[in-house]
Amino acid sequence: MIETNNPLTIRLCAPRGFCAGVDRAIQIVVLALKSYGAPVYVRHEIVHNRYVVEGLEAKGAVFVEELDEIPAEHRAQPVVFSAHGVPKSVPEDAASRNLFYLDATCPLVSKVHVETQRHYDAGREIVLVGHAGHPEVVGTLGQLPEGAVTLIETVDDALAYAPRDPANVAFATQTTLSVDDTAEIVETLRTRFPAIATPHKEDICYATTNRQEAVKAVGARCDVLLVLGSANSSNSVRLAEVGRKAGAAAYLIDDAEGLNLDWLQGARVVGITAGASAPEVLVQGVLARLAQCFDLTVQEAQAEPETVTFKLPRALVG
Ligand code: SF4
Repeated sequence: MIETNNPLTIRLCAPRGFCAGVDRAIQIVVLALKSYGAPVYVRHEIVHNRYVVEGLEAKGAVFVEELDEIPAEHRAQPVVFSAHGVPKSVPEDAASRNLFYLDATCPLVSKVHVETQRHYDAGREIVLVGHAGHPEVVGTLGQLPEGAVTLIETVDDALAYAPRDPANVAFATQTTLSVDDTAEIVETLRTRFPAIATPHKEDICYATTNRQEAVKAVGARCDVLLVLGSANSSNSVRLAEVGRKAGAAAYLIDDAEGLNLDWLQGARVVGITAGASAPEVLVQGVLARLAQCFDLTVQEAQAEPETVTFKLPRALVG
């Protein structure tokens, strides 16, 4: 049993929590509910966070995995595609069903879609670095005909990759990968294929990169790192991994209820961060729970504010 009222220093990572793409995707669902009334259908979790999904469900959003789950009598209601992006077949399917859809794909994911298309049009063989089965990867693979893109997940995959023409290869990556692990994979590809075409600007997005950098700085100076985020959130899972690599015992939790105080046995410094899909209210909930048990000193890391914003779809801003 943990002793209470002991001193505990909290280091809050900065930046943490919502990114511009997540903020935009949630706003799209909220504005669609306001403009068109409930229900608003959302294909797949709008962002991978339980709190966000449950909050939108309470407002009248209905989450489905496929468009054929939308009942015929609700076909005039909007359906929103999630921030992770969708294969090209999905808007085609929506159009063939006469559905009114709003695309909440993060513009930084759309950028990867455009780039892969550009490489394809230039006749290059394309490698996508990412995690099999993640909706963003499914969406990016689905921009091009089956077999046009080869998914690789590890350095071993990069070593085994055998293109038809090694002089005519390009790569793209998922936006929410580990910056360091991806650098190793990319280095392997560059060594094997010196002429490989690379993204114009890094595909791993600014939010993923900044949150991982913040965790590296704090993770090395704390005993335990708490990451607010859901288990299916790629960028949140990566933050816990980065924290462990930096030397902290890192735990991924959905909210304050997921916190096991036994993890903090003997800890003097606890770092806290939140994935790009986890709202600040969850961080504050954990702080409130810790304040009931410890004599807290909270130190907030300093970071340049993130200024990225994305436009909303025209149908919602009139
Ligand atoms: S994590 Fe990056 S790519 Fe994903 S929604 Fe946020 S800004 Fe967009």
